[in-house]
This record gives sequence, C-alpha cells and structure tokens, in this order.
Amino acid sequence: MTRTEFDIVIIGSGAGGGTMARALAPTGARILVVERGTHVPREPENWDPTAVWKALRYRTTETWRDESGAAFTPYTHYNVGGNTKFWGAVLYRLRREDFGELGHVDGVSPAWPIDYDTLAPWYDKAEALYHVHGQHDVDPTEPPRGPYPHPAVPHAPRVAAIAEALRAEGLHPSPLPLGLIDPGQPDGCTLCATCNSFACRLHKKSDAEVCGLLPALAHENVTLWDGASARRLLTDASGQRVQAAEIERHGEQLTVRAPLFIVSCGAVNSAALLLRSANDRHPGGLGNSSGLVGRRYMAHLATMMQGFHPWRVNDTVFQKTLAINDFYLAGAHSPYPLGQIQSQGRTHGIMAKIVGDTIVPRIPLWAYNAWVARGVDWLAMTEDLPREDNRVTLDPDGTIRLSYRPNNLEAHRRLVKVTTRLLHKLGFWKVMAHSHKAKNTTHQCGTLVFGSDPKTSVLDPFCRAHDLENLFVVDASFFPSSGAVNPGLTIVAQALRVADHIRTTLHP
Ligand SMILES: Cc1cc2nc3c(=O)[nH]c(=O)nc-3n(C[C@H](O)[C@H](O)[C@H](O)COP(=O)(O)OP(=O)(O)OC[C@H]3O[C@@H](n4cnc5c(N)ncnc54)[C@H](O)[C@@H]3O)c2cc1C
Ligand code: SF4
Repeated sequence: MTRTEFDIVIIGSGAGGGTMARALAPTGARILVVERGTHVPREPENWDPTAVWKALRYRTTETWRDESGAAFTPYTHYNVGGNTKFWGAVLYRLRREDFGELGHVDGVSPAWPIDYDTLAPWYDKAEALYHVHGQHDVDPTEPPRGPYPHPAVPHAPRVAAIAEALRAEGLHPSPLPLGLIDPGQPDGCTLCATCNSFACRLHKKSDAEVCGLLPALAHENVTLWDGASARRLLTDASGQRVQAAEIERHGEQLTVRAPLFIVSCGAVNSAALLLRSANDRHPGGLGNSSGLVGRRYMAHLATMMQGFHPWRVNDTVFQKTLAINDFYLAGAHSPYPLGQIQSQGRTHGIMAKIVGDTIVPRIPLWAYNAWVARGVDWLAMTEDLPREDNRVTLDPDGTIRLSYRPNNLEAHRRLVKVTTRLLHKLGFWKVMAHSHKAKNTTHQCGTLVFGSDPKTSVLDPFCRAHDLENLFVVDASFFPSSGAVNPGLTIVAQALRVADHIRTTLHP
C-alpha cells in the first residue's frame, strides 16, 4: 500500500525544492518530494539543438493565458530538478545594494527584509554545494566575500581577447560564476557548446537534481514521487495549519498528510497552487490575507545580442564565461541602474533560424549556420520592478493567467544601446538583438513576496506563510525585487537558510 503519511512534504524539486530535500535529508525525518515531471533521460537529444529548440522536446506543452486571454506556451520545464536542468548555471550573488531600496528609471526597487550579510554565509554554502567557479576581487559590484570554492573557468582565446579590449575601454570585465563539476578535467564537464538551455548528458552541470535531489535520495528516509502533481493544499478546521495535500499521481488521486509542507513549484505554479487551495477560511486563496498571492510577478528584461564580423570565424566552444557589470548600478550618462551584460552560450544555426523565420521566412539553414559561426553572443539583462497588476490568477476553467506588462523599459533600452555601442567599438560590423519580451518566464519570481509585515507580504523572512504556521515556500516567489543577476543562487542560499531554520526550530 502507498504510504501517505510523512514528516515533511516538499512540493517541487527545482532550485528551491531539490536543495531543501538535500539540506533536510540528514535530519532523518520522513520526507516526501512530490514532482509533477519525471527525470530528464540521458540521451543524445540532450545536446541536439534541433530536438531542444525546434521540437521543444523538454519544454512543457501546457498553455497559460496572457492578460488579453491569448493562450501561450510558457518557456518552462516540468521535470525532476525543475528549470535548473536547463539553466546556464550562472550562479551569482545579488549585489549588496539589491537588498536595499534602489531608485530606478521607472520607480523604486523595494528593500528585502534581510540584508546581504544575513544571506552571505548561506551564499557560501550554496556555492560549495553547487560547485561554483569564479574569481573574486575583479567585479566592481561584487559584495564582500572570500574566494570562490573553485577557480574561474578560463576564457577561450577569443573571449580573453574581448576581455582585454574591454579593459582597454576602461571597463572591468569579470569571469562569470559558473556551477560546473570539474570543468576541463578527465571525467568532468567537457565545456561543450550545448550547456545553457540544454540538459547535461554527463550530469556534470550543477543542477538541483545532481546537487540536491540525488544526494538526498541516498538517504533512505527520502522518497521521490515523480509524475505527481499537487492539486490543492487542505487546511484544518481552524485554517491555521495545512493538514494534507491532494496529489494526482499517474491518474491516481492521493491525499498525503504531514505536519510540515514546503512548497517550491516555481513562482507561477506556487502562486497558482495557493490560489487553487482557497477554502472557507482562506476564500481568496491560501495565505492570502494580504491580497498579494500571485501579485508582483517579475521576470527580468532580457535581450539576446550577437556581434557579427564577416571575416572573423568564432571558434569558441564554451563561450559563457564573461560578464560586464560596469552599468549594474548606474549607466554612463544616467544615475540609475541599467543591468548586466553577460557573454552567452553559442547560438546554433537552428536557434537563429527559428527567430529569423518569424521576421524573414525561407532563409536556408546553411546561411544561419554561416552567420552564427561568425558571431559572438551576449545577454543584456535589466531588473524589472514589482507591480501589483503584474500577477498570476486562475481563470474559471483553472488555467493559469499571467498578466505581465514589462516595466523599466527605458533602462533596458539604454543597456541594449550601451552594449550595441560597445560591440561596434570592439570591431563587430553588425549587432543583432532579439527578446522574447513578456513571454519569457525563465527568470520568473516574486509572486509570494517575503517581508516582516503580514499586510505587505505573504511570507515571513524565513519564507513561512504569515497565515499558516506549517507552510513554507522556498522557490523564486519570495523575491521582493528581481535584481539584475540570475536568480538561482539566491534561491538555493535562501532554501539552505530556511532548512537550517526548520532543522533548529521546527524539526518534527
Ligand atoms: C533556459 C534557462 C536558463 C537559465 N539559466 C539560468 C542561469 O544561468 N542562472 C540562474 O541562476 N538561473 C537560470 N535560469 C533560471 C532558473 O532555472 C530558475 O530561476 C530556477 O530554476 C527557479 O527555481 P524554482 O525552485 O523557483 O523553480 P523550478 O526550478 O522551476 O522548480 C519548480 C519545480 O516544481 C515542479 N512543479 C510545478 N508545479 C508543481 C505541482 N503542482 N506539483 C508538483 N510539482 C510541481 C516543476 O516541475 C519543477 O520541477 C534559467 C532558466 C532557464 C529555463
Ligand atoms: S559537459 Fe559541461 S558545458 Fe556541457 S552541458 Fe555538461 S556541464 Fe554544460
């Protein structure tokens, strides 16, 4: 008979949930991890750009609706390890300033209820757990820290030359912090050209399955139910505690009971789960006395850019090693933050063709292959600000509706302009830019913000729901602001901090 009583139920196995499982496994508590997806198989298609980008082999086929009601398929993945299986493993700390109130072109980025120093020891642990390689003391925006657990991944010659040229322009390029296992070593990560947006066939990318869940499952007290989706959380009669979760597993409906529930379904799905769990005591959705469940959704403003030179073939294989943070806190001619510029993984011809076909159809693939062989790829990323109208709701038929109007666009426009100018200065003849705009859900965050005041936040500073004494949420939904660095390491660090809090204060 299937066991349905546990000490701790963790829902979702991505950056937050997978890390949480690993951190709580040694407690000996009977832990159930509920994950709607299954393991990503290790197969040739992992690294096949056509399978990944054209056939969308690993993405969800679920549809959501946008503000206007139009259906779209979100750029997200449901599988063991969540979106971390496909991430670029750029594992940044937020800057010290991101934790305070920060003025932007378009308004104010609010302060966090904890400061950088509170999270710093957990960032240290997160970097150790996720094998982060980096170099400290070269990035002008770096918060106080010691050396990285592992040295930075060296730049390929072409990227090293670009870094040199950027320094000659008076900038301070720095190595990207990367979560890779033994890069360049025998039996380690091979530093291939299919990392960001691809799953690692070798399991040498630091993702939440490799660094979180698999080590957790080595403990016999940890159980994984994959292919199991949490439909609703049920409270006791007082409405103060979650008593059980309704789970749909391979067509079977199960009710799982535990004294402690940790939700980590990703910012959109965690909000949707709480909204779906509305009951008499929580008519607006679970934990929603503030009315903020689902609100203040953020996702970053991101533009993919490519510098092209017709005579310079780019022979770089692993290109994602360089960052420019000189405009993170202020632009050259603006007192406001613009964001971050990162080198990106290599664009493959099929990826360029998919975008190109939406503009000028029928250009053959060989032409795109020739084009991308002469390009160097970049990502320009700007913080978006939390607005209450940017939100997750449920339509009457249960479909997720994501209403999102990007803001801080002027800051992003300036960042793209600065990047374009820089690339021209570096000698690129042509600079291309492309953005998925409002439909890019890869950096989703901020739908269940944490804070000290139950009137203005959903979770407390340890990510426990203000309204429910045994419900924690540890995915990206707790972010009160999005910063302009990749969110993953902050999710991991906070999950480790919350796990420690649970271990020391609540462990059942
Ligand atoms: C292509 C790509 C590249 C990226 N690159 C980077 C990068 O380089 N650096 C970085 O920091 N971030 C990167 N990100 C973002 C990063 O992956 C996410 O910020 C991070 O994974 C979010 O963690 P999470 O725990 O909030 O959610 P997720 O990792 O998405 O995990 C949520 C999990 O919950 C499961 N789930 C959802 N609903 C339910 C339910 N009802 N019941 C059971 N299970 C459920 C999902 O299947 C999923 O496994 C990237 C993302 C993508 C897609
Ligand atoms: S081998 Fe290294 S670079 Fe290639 S996918 Fe795996 S972790 Fe990424």
